[in-house]
Amino acid sequence: MIPERLARLRQKMQELGVDTFMVTQPENRRYLSGFTGSAGVLFITQEAALIATDFRYYEQSRQEAPLFELVKIEGKFEGLLPRILERLGSRRVAFEGDHLTYDAYTTYRQAIPEQIELVSTKDVVRWLRAVKEPEEIAAIRRAVALTDRAFDILREMMQPGMIEREMAWKLEQEMRQAGAEKLSFDVILAGGPASAMAHAKASERPLQAGQPIVIDTGCMWQGYCSDLTRTVILGEPDARFMEIYGIVRQAQERAQANLQAGMKGNEAHALAEEVIERAGYGDAFGHGLGHGVGLAIHELPVLSPLSDHTLEAGMVFSVEPGIYLPGWGGVRIEDLVLLTEQGVEVLSQAKKEPVIPIR
Ligand code: ZN
Ligand code: ZN
Repeated sequence: MIPERLARLRQKMQELGVDTFMVTQPENRRYLSGFTGSAGVLFITQEAALIATDFRYYEQSRQEAPLFELVKIEGKFEGLLPRILERLGSRRVAFEGDHLTYDAYTTYRQAIPEQIELVSTKDVVRWLRAVKEPEEIAAIRRAVALTDRAFDILREMMQPGMIEREMAWKLEQEMRQAGAEKLSFDVILAGGPASAMAHAKASERPLQAGQPIVIDTGCMWQGYCSDLTRTVILGEPDARFMEIYGIVRQAQERAQANLQAGMKGNEAHALAEEVIERAGYGDAFGHGLGHGVGLAIHELPVLSPLSDHTLEAGMVFSVEPGIYLPGWGGVRIEDLVLLTEQGVEVLSQAKKEPVIPIR
């Protein structure tokens, strides 16, 4: 858990040649310290681990981050920063260049002595987070199960004439009542042509028979996210829907059957893309096959044509091929999977049968 995470970061710090790592990104801060509050900065050296936070979080940080020494922020943080770095004996300080704003960077740079170097880093802690520990996988499984259950309940009740936004609220209620902390993102629920937009929000439109309806949702359990997409159709589907649905499903099955540790993100993407391309819909699958899921809904690894990093056992990510046809609609099927040495274990178990009979 936390001690192992800090050890892995300290190893990384040696490779980077920095003596201090300053963590400002919220999920990274939580991952390394346990602290769940909304404000605070971690300072990690080979020997020390400090958390600087303000009055609102003194007590919470003591409870949640017992391995970190609390430094109280009173007044402006940049007033305290040079004293923290002096006390730590810092010379080369890594910061999260992919999170810290330019304004904050400029303020900090001006506040600290010139001889202290600030080193911009990217994705260092995010990569540590990509391979999950058993406790993290257990939390994700729970979030996935809550989402599967809510979707299957919704599926049983969906009928033409029901309002998209009410369906979205029903999903949210089911997850929250079963114990979810909150949703991992606003429910995406769109029928008909709007479903061709990969991230369409639920609207005031009523559901209609014979149109694809894309539902993408997830919730959080102990800070960990789930992510699930199903596409359904109310009443008799036409041949086109069944064709498109079949291709997307085949693309997902091929990816899930062939994904392996050691594969690159773009090779994983190609497993699904080739199926869609061969069927003649190559241009209609415009996003990546998947993304890591954990404390954040979108994290590493990335499965896309641009991704050249290696997939490792222990990573949890989505497998979500889709075909989107403007004017008609879209089909996307998304599961979360756990990559193991034997291939993938599919975590999502929500029903995949797309046709919902009209009662
Ligand atoms: Zn999703
Ligand atoms: Zn997703």
